[in-house]
Amino acid sequence: LLLSYEPAKRLARLNIDLTTHLLGARMLFDVLDKPAVEVDPAGTPELEVKGGKIEFDDVFFGYRETEPVLRGLSFVAEAGKTTALVGPSGGGKSTVMALIERFYEIGSGTIAIDGQKIDQVTRRSLRSSIGYVSQDAFLFAGTIRENILAGRAGASEEEIIAAAKAAHAHDFIMGFQGGYDSRVGEHGAQLSGGQRQRIAIARAFLKDAPILLLDEATAALDSESEAEIQKALQSLQMNRTTLVIAHRLQTVINADRICVVERGRVVESGRHDELVAKRGRYFSFHQLQFAGQQERLSA
Ligand code: ADP
Ligand code: MG
Repeated sequence: LLLSYEPAKRLARLNIDLTTHLLGARMLFDVLDKPAVEVDPAGTPELEVKGGKIEFDDVFFGYRETEPVLRGLSFVAEAGKTTALVGPSGGGKSTVMALIERFYEIGSGTIAIDGQKIDQVTRRSLRSSIGYVSQDAFLFAGTIRENILAGRAGASEEEIIAAAKAAHAHDFIMGFQGGYDSRVGEHGAQLSGGQRQRIAIARAFLKDAPILLLDEATAALDSESEAEIQKALQSLQMNRTTLVIAHRLQTVINADRICVVERGRVVESGRHDELVAKRGRYFSFHQLQFAGQQERLSA
């Protein structure tokens, strides 16, 4: 059953309760009833981050009415700790991150940061509390300086350079003829994947948000870039609550907690050793995804 948006809205107005017949219908109508432009009602309080604890409780969500993506997903990412999400592709890991930034409204359940529901605080205060670094670092056409400044407009030159140094990016930036004024993007400097990622990391250092969302690269970078990036990311995670979509064995081994996400639910969680010993979902998944990396680590 596929409903296009218009008829669905009409049905909603007719007050027909489809929830008993159509999974996710309630969710669909909730989403459609929201204004297209994101406006926070006057008087909406700001998010006040203390430690940055993230809590998902029984969250249901789908991008389309007929396809639930998260089906009762629950987990806690403790303040100041690193929580890794692992699991098969399509399980909902990236969706979890998009929901934390409130790019979509959930159908039911709650998402809270330090006990405050994220749909009851301003989007601005929510998003300014979150740094995001992904596998496909987003750079816009402009200079390297402008791309780093996107982390925090108005930062000083010293702060930009300090962020680039922390991201292990300063040296390669200075290697370009134009330095920080070099253009990136269509007609600009050709940056490698590793360099793009380090600029995105510099941006996150400059933003200095208490919560860090990290979508780790699936594709292997050249080993020098890889080492630089790992060092940069390790220091970026210090004193922040980090949620990482993990593709590297080293990341899950170091994580304070691992959550295995499958078909929109957290099916198992714990530390690497515990979960390996348990020989459950993580163990099976780990053998598939990390077996090759294990050999390289112990070689
Ligand atoms: P993972 O990160 O675990 O691989 P995702 O959260 O990216 O999983 O995807 C979960 C499901 O949601 C998949 O079926 C995917 O096709 C779907 N999906 C992801 N993003 C979108 C989107 N923007 N619009 C529609 N469907 C999406
Ligand atoms: Mg993903």
